[in-house]
Amino acid sequence: MSERTPVLIVGAGLSGLSTAVFLGLHGTPSLVVERHPGTSTHPKARGQQNHAMEALRLVGLEAAMLDASPKSQGFLLRIAQSASGPVFREILHDTFLSLDHLTPAGSADASQASAERILAERARELGAEIRFSTRLDSFEQDENGVRAVLADATGTREVHADYLVAADGHRSPIRERLGIGTHGRGALGHSIHWLVRADLSAVVGDRLVMYYLQNPELSGGNGVVVSTDHPDQFVVGVGYDPAHEEPADFTEERSLAQIRLATGVPELDVEILATDSTVTTMQVADRFSAGRVHLVGDAAHTMPPHGGMGGNTAVMDGFYLAWKLAAVLRGEAGPGLLDSHDAERRPVGELVAENQFRNAIVRNRPDLAREDDAPPIEDPAVLLFGYRHNGAVVREPGDEGELLENATRPTGRPGSRAPHVRLSTPDGEVSTIDLFGRGFVLLTGSESWAGAAEEVATALGVRLEPRLIGGEMTGDWTGPYGVGADGAVLVRPDRFIAWRSRGPGTAADLEKALRTILDR
Ligand SMILES: Cc1cc2nc3c(=O)[nH]c(=O)nc-3n(C[C@H](O)[C@H](O)[C@H](O)COP(=O)(O)OP(=O)(O)OC[C@H]3O[C@@H](n4cnc5c(N)ncnc54)[C@H](O)[C@@H]3O)c2cc1C
Repeated sequence: MSERTPVLIVGAGLSGLSTAVFLGLHGTPSLVVERHPGTSTHPKARGQQNHAMEALRLVGLEAAMLDASPKSQGFLLRIAQSASGPVFREILHDTFLSLDHLTPAGSADASQASAERILAERARELGAEIRFSTRLDSFEQDENGVRAVLADATGTREVHADYLVAADGHRSPIRERLGIGTHGRGALGHSIHWLVRADLSAVVGDRLVMYYLQNPELSGGNGVVVSTDHPDQFVVGVGYDPAHEEPADFTEERSLAQIRLATGVPELDVEILATDSTVTTMQVADRFSAGRVHLVGDAAHTMPPHGGMGGNTAVMDGFYLAWKLAAVLRGEAGPGLLDSHDAERRPVGELVAENQFRNAIVRNRPDLAREDDAPPIEDPAVLLFGYRHNGAVVREPGDEGELLENATRPTGRPGSRAPHVRLSTPDGEVSTIDLFGRGFVLLTGSESWAGAAEEVATALGVRLEPRLIGGEMTGDWTGPYGVGADGAVLVRPDRFIAWRSRGPGTAADLEKALRTILDR
């Protein structure tokens, strides 16, 4: 007998698990299948940036990510010749930029392995089923749904799903099967990585480190030295030219010599625990959706690790897709809402992947720099909080749909992230950000608009609630949101502004806007 699930998610990496968690938040169960026997054990990505933590705090995971972060005494992000120096550029030294003016959320340093474990646990709590050692074998879709064949040790079985989420990584067999091509800068370079046990305390102290190395004596002329969760274990990597050699050419003796060169400690006592090789690639899928299938994470956008946004963007993809799937499945939105996944996430994927590519050139491969390359964006007000989603929104006259704005100078335009404004309540201070996340919110200072929101919520049967600022909850919100106190701002569950009225209006205005946004 075949099974049914509203959403089948293939891949239990950061993007698949995030999709499952946020679907759970919106009350939609999902089935996650992962061909490996468990979540990742490799020390790949590290760190949850503030925008991802903003999403994670909505599902109560902010503290868990902080708890899972190594208790180091600081952080070094450097471009250098070796971990012992000389240093060419100090990108971060001990203090992270304070983003208190942009967000109530901090950042965390949990490893990918810890983050996946935490997400998997929360996804299950919120109603997802995760099946490991289970592979998507094949699938087909029509206007009614997706029929997938899953394979595990006991054989194959059929699952019917309303939607399929391709969270199946950079090679994405689902993307291939759909015939979706990719575009972008392609392969940046090949590298070999060693997970090593070594005492580098004399070099790094008890800090977390991320060294990007440029040294002609290193294989490929470049390398990395990166902390792991264990203070005596590091990932050391160097480049190689696949035209002339392959990972097997790195004998133990040669590997140890490269590791000592990268750390800058000629006599370093090193134990190699594991070896891996990767191709650093920048590629973006030509489409993020095809019928009932939606791509998230590396399946949609693969990027060099330089800048630490690959995993964070994967988490955000799940956050942004989940509310749309849930709204369509509940019948609150028409299927056209899902067209906005490609319209909104592909430009952001392209931007972030290109930015990481530029980071990679600056940090590791200056030999590949092109004269017309703009410098990478480093300002988090732009990169983390400035991108716009110009799909399921009511765009205003004169808005050209620019992809970026600077969140320190918010405009309140539909398509922009709802600005963080501190509000006073009898129970203490809250952020506007924490008012949003579960359904639509109409932010207003007007009783009349609040009444309109209740009326429209009932008329359309959608999750929409008014949040009245004034009375017990006060704060200077109108400036950042670009409205008068008698105006109203409609905020989507993913904290993006969908529509606004700068002054008074009617329930009919709000209903018209919501119908446009929700494809009703
Ligand atoms: C060396 C390195 C360092 C990095 N550092 C950072 C960093 O510091 N910060 C950061 O944010 N990002 C970093 N990244 C990027 C980050 O690791 C990825 O962007 C992130 O893991 C992508 O998650 P994902 O869920 O989309 O894909 P994946 O983690 O690749 O997960 C895809 C999953 O799908 C499964 N799968 C595939 N096909 C099937 C199938 N047919 N059936 C069942 N399961 C299937 C796979 O087994 C896999 O587990 C780094 C990457 C690398 C390689």
